[in-house]
Amino acid sequence: MNNQIIQPYIGSSKIDSIYRRINELKKDKDVVILSHYYMSPELQVSTELGGVADFIGDSLALSLAAKNTRAKNIVFCGVKFMAETAKILNPTRNVFISDMEAGCSLASSITGEDVRNLKAKYPGLPIIAYINTNAETKAECDICCTSRNAMSIARSFKEDRIIFIPDVYMGQNLSSRVKAETGKEFILWDGRCEVHEQFTSSSMESLKMIYPNAELLMHWEVPEESVNSAFADTKGVLGSTGDIISYVGKSDAKQFILASECDLGATLKGMYKDKEFITPCVKCPYMKKITLENTLALLESINTEDAMQYQIFLDDDIISKALVPIERMLEFS
Ligand code: SF4
Repeated sequence: MNNQIIQPYIGSSKIDSIYRRINELKKDKDVVILSHYYMSPELQVSTELGGVADFIGDSLALSLAAKNTRAKNIVFCGVKFMAETAKILNPTRNVFISDMEAGCSLASSITGEDVRNLKAKYPGLPIIAYINTNAETKAECDICCTSRNAMSIARSFKEDRIIFIPDVYMGQNLSSRVKAETGKEFILWDGRCEVHEQFTSSSMESLKMIYPNAELLMHWEVPEESVNSAFADTKGVLGSTGDIISYVGKSDAKQFILASECDLGATLKGMYKDKEFITPCVKCPYMKKITLENTLALLESINTEDAMQYQIFLDDDIISKALVPIERMLEFS
């Protein structure tokens, strides 16, 4: 289990009492809480440290945790496509999210019908769906990927052309690297993460001028133009959230410019106390819809009729079709 240490949240009497109540309810109602790295820090305190998160991770780690849990009820502190993935992997368990409006600009950029139209336009080409897609979109695709395994999945196809949906920036970043290695071409969809697209070349250049000794931590979802110009004369990593965390652990640098979701900075600071993380602090408005308070309300509702408003329901047909690309992806993990 990953343990992020976000100590300031321990010791506040209001938060401690919510933690206590949630932990009582988790025990009584057989609940596991899976929490994404982009959650607010108070939702990233593990149970060992007095918080409520049983597992903290990126999309891939949380998919694996969802696959392996034995709890009757899964509460997902993340966004809705993640909770849907947990449901697809655990169709017999109850999966909940504390705000159904916790969406994602990438997931909402494409539908299952859009993918069917792509298949008609490009017959026979494989389709890789980034995990940040809704269940009905995944159901139409050949394989899913997360930012951690996208490169190896893209390399594994024998076809010369691959359709990658929905993130145009991540697709461009992947495409130029895969094309240089293998000559493969990517056909891209025009979806964007509204958080990562804000890391422009000029904002990165300004930060580099202010912090000339800092290394770069950039997510695949940042625009390719910003990535290429930032790395032209500076060291660092372009990768998934997991790649960013492990890079910091191995680097001797003391200062890093983070081009990813703001609360990942708090997570990194908790893990690496002797290092400094500089970020323009762009927060994902969807992730921030999940709070300690609405997580408590969700847990109180479990085993009552009120729980329906928080529960993920998917058609059996969508579950069985979407499971195929997710399980193919997990073979790469
Ligand atoms: S950070 Fe971007 S990709 Fe992640 S949930 Fe928010 S909008 Fe979607």
